[in-house]
Amino acid sequence: TTDAVWLAPGEPQEIQSDLVSRFHEEYGRPASGTWFAPGRANLNGEHIDFHAGRCLPMALAHGTYVAAAPREDGLLRLRTLDASLDDGVTTVFADQIGLRAEPGAEDALKDGAAGHWSQYVHGALWALRELGTSQPDFQVSEGFGADILVVSTLPIGGGLSSSAALECASILAFVALGTPLGQQNPLDDLNAALTREHRKQLAAACVRAEVEVVGAGTGGLDQTAAMRARAGKVLSLDCRDFSVQPLDIGCILRGYRLIAVDTGQAHRLADGQFSDRRADAEAAAQLLGFERLRDALPEKPRKADVLHVLEEFDRLAEQLESVGGRDIGACRRRLRHALTEMVRSEKLHHLLSGEAYGVRHITSTVGDILTAGHMSMRDDAEVSFTVADLVVETALAQGAEGARLIGGGFGGSVLVLIAPAGLPRLTAALERISRNIRLIDVAPSAAAHAL
Ligand code: ADP
Ligand code: MG
Repeated sequence: TTDAVWLAPGEPQEIQSDLVSRFHEEYGRPASGTWFAPGRANLNGEHIDFHAGRCLPMALAHGTYVAAAPREDGLLRLRTLDASLDDGVTTVFADQIGLRAEPGAEDALKDGAAGHWSQYVHGALWALRELGTSQPDFQVSEGFGADILVVSTLPIGGGLSSSAALECASILAFVALGTPLGQQNPLDDLNAALTREHRKQLAAACVRAEVEVVGAGTGGLDQTAAMRARAGKVLSLDCRDFSVQPLDIGCILRGYRLIAVDTGQAHRLADGQFSDRRADAEAAAQLLGFERLRDALPEKPRKADVLHVLEEFDRLAEQLESVGGRDIGACRRRLRHALTEMVRSEKLHHLLSGEAYGVRHITSTVGDILTAGHMSMRDDAEVSFTVADLVVETALAQGAEGARLIGGGFGGSVLVLIAPAGLPRLTAALERISRNIRLIDVAPSAAAHAL
């Protein structure tokens, strides 16, 4: 029965062939191809991408598949096979997305289908068009449209970044079917034709889709993971310039496993709580006189540097009850989360990049950092919730090396580092917490690609 709680990534070939035949039924013509983008789990780096911090994501084997065929009448027709979101085919005028998104008219675009899942997809096409105005490789051809069918093996709204997976798989489909880069390369050569720089640009375009079209306050971590991750590696992503360094994760995983526990409690990032937390942290930055909190710390931040910034904050905040209309105590807690999270990322980077050669119990050190990250998410960022706290406590009680909430919070998943021998007991204990809990094996996987 324990198999029932595992959410398998499935066989990509089987998922593709099923999707492609559903596509034919739906649109009465064959799909031109299928594109995939993975979800992600983070070792560390929550709520700090938009403060230029360092994040440590890995791509999952689970992700989102998009089958598509081009149209020349400028229509985008979309359908998702996700049972809870499927409401048949949605039709959007692809050209009008571009027109309505002219500077100053972004609001009209947002109103178009506010809150509908299809925004993530037509947002990606809008952002690709925008990118194409300065990058000839990505110039979207006139009148371009597409028929699209989506299926995902990720929990939706589960903190594993199904939104970025949808944007990134979609944008690859649009690149392949509607741009010079796609036209110059046969479909199965697209993976080779996409340079690192291309991938970086496409990730940035997907951020624009989510921020400017969907209206969610994402900072780029999720899209970078989906577009630029490497199999077997954790990506050390410096959000100051979005440079990435793939680091070997083997040293942690030798004899251990990373599991993402989907609590079954979905969140809606666009809901406002996330933006609230972000506004608190921004107000703290403003009081300190920095645009991004990363700038408040030195090149290799350590704990002492955090204390120093907090003292400075307290000095400036004396006499104040609020800053920028935000409660001063809340701002201080968000500040402390951001700063300590940056220090944790730095420590992990140091450990994983081999600079800490000779650290004896690297797995338990990493585990302790994970757990400290959870406490910070719970007490300082204040984005945790009852089931997540319970899952963390349960995992630690069952002998896990460490556990933490990942993703934006207010729902989502917990990452657990544990020896395989402890898994059966953990699974049984989790089943007692909630029947909606699902376990996902975190096997650091490859970035978005054409199938
Ligand atoms: P997360 O990225 O953590 O899964 P988000 O709230 O950021 O959570 O994104 C979830 C939203 O993304 C869904 O509400 C839906 O609008 C969209 N989405 C993601 N995957 C799919 C899918 N397979 N089909 C349709 N919409 C999807
Ligand atoms: Mg998301």
